[in-house]
Amino acid sequence: MMKRLLVAAAACAAMFAACACGAEKSAKPNFIIVLADDLGYGDLGCYGHPSIRTPNLDRMAREGIRFTDFYSAAEVCTPSRAALMTGRYPIRSGMCNDRFRVLRRESTGHLPDSEITLAQLLKTQGYATACIGKWHLGNWMNNPDGHPMKHGFDYYFGLPHSNDMNPVAGLAKGQHDSLDPDPKAFNAPLFEGEKLIEQPADQTTLTRRYTEHAVKFINEHKDGPFFLYLAQTFPHTPLFASDAFRNKSPRGRYGDVVEEIDWSVGQILDALRAAGIDKNTFVFFTSDNGPWLIRGLAGGSAGLLRDGKGSTYEGGMREPGIAWMPGKVPAGIVCHEIASTMDLLPTFATWAGAKIPADRPMDGLDITPLLTNSGTVQRDAYIYYRGTQLYAARLGKWKAHFITQPSYGPGKPEPHDPPLLFDLNADPSETTDVAAQHADVIAEISAAVQRHRATVQPVMNQLEAVVSTETGSGSKAAQPH
Ligand code: MG
Repeated sequence: MMKRLLVAAAACAAMFAACACGAEKSAKPNFIIVLADDLGYGDLGCYGHPSIRTPNLDRMAREGIRFTDFYSAAEVCTPSRAALMTGRYPIRSGMCNDRFRVLRRESTGHLPDSEITLAQLLKTQGYATACIGKWHLGNWMNNPDGHPMKHGFDYYFGLPHSNDMNPVAGLAKGQHDSLDPDPKAFNAPLFEGEKLIEQPADQTTLTRRYTEHAVKFINEHKDGPFFLYLAQTFPHTPLFASDAFRNKSPRGRYGDVVEEIDWSVGQILDALRAAGIDKNTFVFFTSDNGPWLIRGLAGGSAGLLRDGKGSTYEGGMREPGIAWMPGKVPAGIVCHEIASTMDLLPTFATWAGAKIPADRPMDGLDITPLLTNSGTVQRDAYIYYRGTQLYAARLGKWKAHFITQPSYGPGKPEPHDPPLLFDLNADPSETTDVAAQHADVIAEISAAVQRHRATVQPVMNQLEAVVSTETGSGSKAAQPH
């Protein structure tokens, strides 16, 4: 009896191996990135939030890898998204700026055509591609070349920029920070493809509608391969949630909004399971930058990290990062290695069999060893830019701040020589400067910064140009959105 069982088990194993092998040969993996907007490091249950309920993301973390040291490549929206799309620091594409920080409603610049996006790279391998949600890498109402379908996406549904960028005069005052904002106060335009389908967009149903379009795309392309970039509009303020979530969270409206995003992730993972493609689809969840702290209760929390959106302290750029692909990404792992949104492009390219562009500096690394929990990745210093200025660098557990600046308000850049030095393992909140005890570490980080600087070429800045009929307000526009 035992022998028969063993033979049967062996046959089963051989069959499974053959199936798995066959599947690998015939099907490239699908990729999904879910990018929250302005979600803080401390805003999810699995990152320690005590009252925001995120059972789907918590489960995703239990079934996959949760990163503790995952970074966006900028502290505000536009440069962060440019880096994610290109695998390169935004200084290389001109998608960062000291005056405006992000693309504005009246901007005409966009992600340059010379940049190779993740979507374009995957298209070379036969992927269907969709961008659903906030783009913020070009406003096609001013310049059609800024549209995501000009940068590698087959399908688009969403807002060209942040949900606060079309405030209605006389109505929007005080609504930005409100815990129950007036839906009529923001005249956000909603597009499907290149067609304006709704203005003002009903923002209370945006998360739900993004999710429905995402699930539809998954089901329509379940034979694969596909790449879905779902860039949620929230929890960027103003905060809107659907009836099913409004006034439900103990954390108030901010919690409502995050809990609806969590629901959305659950719907997507359920759709993958129902379509039988969960084991062949890599899903990554993160945020574009830290919490917008000046929004009070309408903004999120960076947990024990210092500062938030707009800052090169950890709270501005260290994000939740959760990887999921049952069978390939091992379950229940907490990864303490440094990783970033820029790593997704070279990693996806490798998995898809695409060539990583070799004609330009690539800042992201293939993090397959981290995602399979099979090793580490050799990484030089991780660089923190604020606009076009290099503010800080991290090498291993050490972080040196060469310049600091309050994230908001009239505070000026403050240079540091020697730089401030923090041990991020011993002092994740960056409270205690230990530069005086570690001149050797500072020398090492400074050398790494010089290596990085040597690779940076001047490029045209994409965030300065605006439509000629509008002048904008310098002081207002200087606040990141
Ligand atoms: Mg943002």
